[in-house]
Amino acid sequence: DNRIIRFYQVSKHFGDSWALHDLSFDVETNEFLFITGPSGAGKSTLIKLLYMGERMSSGYAIVDGMNLTRMHRRQIPVLRRKIGVIFQDFKLIAHLNVFQNVALVMEAAGFKSRTEIRRRVGDLLELVGLADQAKAYPPTLSGGEKQRAAVARAMVGKPKIILADEPTASLDPDAAERVLRLLCAAHSRGATVLITTHDRELISRFDTRVIRLQGGRQVDDAAGNADGVCP
Ligand code: ADP
Ligand code: ADP
Repeated sequence: DNRIIRFYQVSKHFGDSWALHDLSFDVETNEFLFITGPSGAGKSTLIKLLYMGERMSSGYAIVDGMNLTRMHRRQIPVLRRKIGVIFQDFKLIAHLNVFQNVALVMEAAGFKSRTEIRRRVGDLLELVGLADQAKAYPPTLSGGEKQRAAVARAMVGKPKIILADEPTASLDPDAAERVLRLLCAAHSRGATVLITTHDRELISRFDTRVIRLQGGRQVDDAAGNADGVCP
């Protein structure tokens, strides 16, 4: 079975309002896809369900063989080690510098060797173009730099799945292009990449699968052109 994500009739409500309603879709290993739809459609909620930032209200979901429906709290860290998340508001830790923010993920993932951590974090900062800002603190960075630090943190543990919530929303076109190229790099080394966005131009440029949400419902699932991924 090549399906790394399986959602079957998944719903999520907050109080008596439905954020997601009856969502069913599968994602194959190494797919690159967009989740789109207007503000309030449920895109962020979908990302949160995937890393168990929130629990679904009903339905059935499997992520890399782990059953989210019945998952015990203790297993959540195991799930999260499979997933790199790029949050809309970055969630960088303000009192840790860029290097420490990225290294923290490796420490949490159980990497013990200081040398290995230093080398891998250094490589990632090089890749995202932040080697010179390794000692800078998040509040001093530009929006694009914060976003790239968030990308480095999401990629450093070599996760099988990368979830990016509106990764280009606050960026100018050059910075956005740079972040997308990094997500493509993760995809080419085998990661499954899900990106939420409401940027139509971005979606059309990639010509890949797009799941469209509206009012918490799935209104479209358009297969893309497999060769169109990451131009
Ligand atoms: P999107 O990311 O597409 O803008 P969201 O997933 O953030 O949409 O929100 C979907 C719906 O769920 C919205 O109506 C939103 O107000 C509601 N919602 C999201 N999170 C919460 C929450 N923690 N409590 C109450 N309502 C929420
Ligand atoms: P909650 O409502 O549970 O607080 P959040 O969206 O704030 O939901 O995220 C929960 C916490 O889990 C955040 O502090 C976030 O940094 C962390 N987190 C979620 N997924 C991952 C991941 N894959 N790797 C590292 N940290 C993660």
